[in-house]
Amino acid sequence: MKAIPVQGTLRLRGHTLLCLQGFRGKGYSPGFVENLAAIHRELTANPDRSVEVVDGPDAVCGACPHQAISGCTLSGEASEEAMQAQDRHVLALLGLQAGMSVQWCTILERIGQSVRGDDLPGICGQCRWLPLGYCKEGIERLRQGSSQ
Ligand code: SF4
Repeated sequence: MKAIPVQGTLRLRGHTLLCLQGFRGKGYSPGFVENLAAIHRELTANPDRSVEVVDGPDAVCGACPHQAISGCTLSGEASEEAMQAQDRHVLALLGLQAGMSVQWCTILERIGQSVRGDDLPGICGQCRWLPLGYCKEGIERLRQGSSQ
């Protein structure tokens, strides 16, 4: 597994910005979970942390067992292309473009203002984590916070 990337530039793909709202210690392998937990902790402890948003493999993919040189293979050959479309969809909703560096607290604010839990089926397609409801709950929590 690659080193946990909590130092330096933290690259996150557009759709991962939403996945992080629903993270509850589950994932594709122990190494994947350990890496994602470290990223989640880093962002939670440092809301002013700068994140480079991207539409390709990111710091989370770096420890994923489904990551190949060609990118994501989770759902077969077309997986990376589908993930990139999801990334661009989320970045557009948040008013961001791939390659921009943004503070994590700004990203949270924009998710709270621009995404609803009920939007997830239209964004995330057949993601296996969607039926658990964790991501929807996390986003609704953010929305409540941003309306206070
Ligand atoms: S449902 Fe899947 S793709 Fe959508 S935010 Fe959750 S983990 Fe990410």
